[in-house]
Amino acid sequence: MNQPYLLLTPGPLSTSAAVKSAMQVDLSTWDQDYLAITEDIRQQLVALAKAQLATYTAVLLQGSGSYGVEAVLNTVLPKTYQKSYGCLMIAINGAYGKRMAEMADRLQIQHVDLVVPENEPITLDAVQAFFREHPEITHFAMIHCETTTGILNPIETIFPWVKAQNVTTIVDAMSSFGGIPIDVPELGIDFLISSANKCIQGVPGFAFVIANRASLEQCANRSTSVSLDLYAQYISFRDHPGKWRFTSPTHTILAFQQALRELALEGGIAARHTRYLQNQLQLVAGMQNLGFEALLPADYQSPIITTFKIPSASFDFQAFYDALKRRYFVIYPGKTTEGPSFRIGTIGNVDTQHIATLLATIETIQQQL
Ligand SMILES: *Cc1c(COP(=O)(O)O)cnc(C)c1O
Repeated sequence: MNQPYLLLTPGPLSTSAAVKSAMQVDLSTWDQDYLAITEDIRQQLVALAKAQLATYTAVLLQGSGSYGVEAVLNTVLPKTYQKSYGCLMIAINGAYGKRMAEMADRLQIQHVDLVVPENEPITLDAVQAFFREHPEITHFAMIHCETTTGILNPIETIFPWVKAQNVTTIVDAMSSFGGIPIDVPELGIDFLISSANKCIQGVPGFAFVIANRASLEQCANRSTSVSLDLYAQYISFRDHPGKWRFTSPTHTILAFQQALRELALEGGIAARHTRYLQNQLQLVAGMQNLGFEALLPADYQSPIITTFKIPSASFDFQAFYDALKRRYFVIYPGKTTEGPSFRIGTIGNVDTQHIATLLATIETIQQQL
């Protein structure tokens, strides 16, 4: 079947034909071929994070990205009913930050939340002020690209300062890792979470965590969940190279291996970042010409996904969506609380040619709707 439409979404997103066809092989999870592929992927992920294998490791985990986030929180944070528990600061400016707080509640993890409006970035000033009010903070978590709006939070200024406070640091870089360069050791990130179906351009099926080994090795027996115990999963990979606990998504792994090849062929993360930036700049300029205003100013807009305000009360998003879908393009509904909106992703196997066609198609639809 030919691809019926192009996904302009935050993931799952459009993948190449070669990524999809890499999945046409059935592999046994016990076989050496598969173990070697898993091991190779883990090593490549550490390298993409600009980290060394001596001090960092990559742990893969079955499930979607949220499983990775929940596994990190559960594995890293002690619980309030335990003798000495810590305090997690969560900096929130969107739905994914809120989801972390919801997980912390369920897991009985003590947390204090810095909540910022969804159309404003988290700033170092705000984080510093919050630390002064809460000397009990032992752990810090933040989203890099808040996919709710597409805002980019400045991890480059915030994480080195937080790390210097002797605090364990967690970043959800789900929708940015692979599409925006991140030097994990230099920023002092202990745990970075991402997943197979975002900027690496693979298909859904697993999350991965780039973890500081020393930080992870302190986390034995903390997780209250067996399957979401990131430490136990790490020990499996450490002691039996390539060996996951429990059934792993073998076809997704094959697709991911091909996606990593394509990332390297493209010129690595820096080159992919440039392509996404070009897509996004062209999209915003073109949409502006057509009368659509972006929610965020360019200063803190990511190249990943852009939120556009619904232009008028009479604008029918569903009709707009359906008309675009009939003409090849699938866009995304809005999620922000800052007023009615919709989103268009600029990641995946998408280039400026696609964006030009999308803009021409929107212009045609506008005349007909
Ligand atoms: C996609 C995404 C997630 C994970 O979502 P899943 O649906 O569980 O894969 C988490 N955080 C951010 C910022 C995301 O973009």
